[in-house]
Amino acid sequence: MGSTLPDPMERCVTVVGGGLAGCEAALQLARRGVDVRLVEMKPLRRSPAHLSEALAELVCSNSLRSDRLHNAVGLLHEEMRRAGSIVLEAADASRVPAGGALAVDREGFSAHIDAAVRAHTRIEVVAEELRELPPSPAIVATGPLTADDLAARIREICGDALYFYDSIAPTVYADSLDMDVVYRASRYDEAGQGDYLNLPLDEAAYLAFVEELVRGEKVPLHAFEKALYFEGCLPIEVMAERGPKTLSFGPMKPVGLPDPRTGREPYAVVQLRQEDAGGTLYNLVGFQTKLRIGEQRRIFRSLPGMAGAVFARFGSAHRNTFIRSPDLLDAQLQHRQRDGLYFAGQIAGVEGYVESAALGLLAGVFLAARVRGEEAPEPPPTSALGALLGHVCRGPAGDFQPMNVNFGLFPPLEGPRRVPRREKHQRLAERALRDLEPWVASVRAVPA
Ligand SMILES: Cc1cc2nc3c(=O)[nH]c(=O)nc-3n(C[C@H](O)[C@H](O)[C@H](O)COP(=O)(O)OP(=O)(O)OC[C@H]3O[C@@H](n4cnc5c(N)ncnc54)[C@H](O)[C@@H]3O)c2cc1C
Repeated sequence: MGSTLPDPMERCVTVVGGGLAGCEAALQLARRGVDVRLVEMKPLRRSPAHLSEALAELVCSNSLRSDRLHNAVGLLHEEMRRAGSIVLEAADASRVPAGGALAVDREGFSAHIDAAVRAHTRIEVVAEELRELPPSPAIVATGPLTADDLAARIREICGDALYFYDSIAPTVYADSLDMDVVYRASRYDEAGQGDYLNLPLDEAAYLAFVEELVRGEKVPLHAFEKALYFEGCLPIEVMAERGPKTLSFGPMKPVGLPDPRTGREPYAVVQLRQEDAGGTLYNLVGFQTKLRIGEQRRIFRSLPGMAGAVFARFGSAHRNTFIRSPDLLDAQLQHRQRDGLYFAGQIAGVEGYVESAALGLLAGVFLAARVRGEEAPEPPPTSALGALLGHVCRGPAGDFQPMNVNFGLFPPLEGPRRVPRREKHQRLAERALRDLEPWVASVRAVPA
């Protein structure tokens, strides 16, 4: 990394935030012989979503999603187990029946982590709301609802690359679209091949779609999210509620996008923009939404060319404090201008419990090595840990959005491209676990 290593006198790392990422990071550090001061503002102060006294609280669902290897988050579970994650240890110990999903008894889950953190002799848990950035070495893991004063300090070192809300459009796998319906075109681009995929709608299809958006079931807003839409871009269903033509003059505007098969502009279009270098993933431009996931699947699959669409990520709009990490962090989650200051968890630009804990694990491993005067290797890009880290540290800087882990973030497999999806994912998972093995062995905790 080429930066000066922390002074040996500063072998105590401050971790701010005792959520999933902060607890995971603290234990990874402590198990590698590093002293940790874990600063958590609960119970003195709570975010609007945190209710319990315990560390590592699950603020909403009790599910850590699919535990199956052919699902990217299931693969991430397995990688984290192998890397010695306390969050996965707690999840396995407090598991409740939920088919192929890893669902947990929420109190048992938090209690397991809380006890492991507090029992560790190298970890001191301090109840305090941190209002200033901690001295290095430190990890900031204060989550999507980071308290305001600290968020203001983070803004001072991150500038306009700190966001307070998330407005995400769904992303689909390109190979699940019907290419007989889709046409390529960029607006007013007469000569070029066109960077966007476009789905044409006639008037009847457009009006039926708008009606479904208005009628579709939405996720209710939390009270603290009410002001959100004044700052962010509007969810598509809110635009649809403003009048049947609003979308056809907004994100579904057909102007400058003639369908090459007819030579005419359709009544409306859905535009999809490429999201990864390999062209595997495309997002539905302007389709940020609060529709429930089942409704998104049903309503968006009713669009022409989308009947078989497979979603890598569903849309959402919620309060979320996060930084544009590709602009700010190095390959090991360290702020490029602040030596020894690391970011982990949702604030670093991932979405979800498991992904947040995964970044906590990585930040803990990386910083523990630095404190010992060493440099830990990064996990291979073919692993779920490496793919997630790659999105955060090297993702699309200009248009960066927090992500759940998904197979679209992985480098493609060698060999024939046309393999059934399930088999492809199985092979990606096998490759990931094989490639990760040496990394796990090289960063294994050896307490000093
Ligand atoms: C309302 C809501 C619902 C969600 N539902 C889900 C879901 O169902 N499934 C899912 O996978 N993900 C969900 N998420 C995302 C989820 O929050 C994150 O995935 C995960 O909890 C983030 O982990 P984290 O460790 O980064 O942050 P958190 O778990 O939020 O932990 C951050 C900790 O930092 C503390 N803190 C904040 N500021 C300070 C400060 N200045 N000083 C000291 N301590 C501070 C907080 O009290 C908190 O304990 C939800 C998020 C929100 C906001």
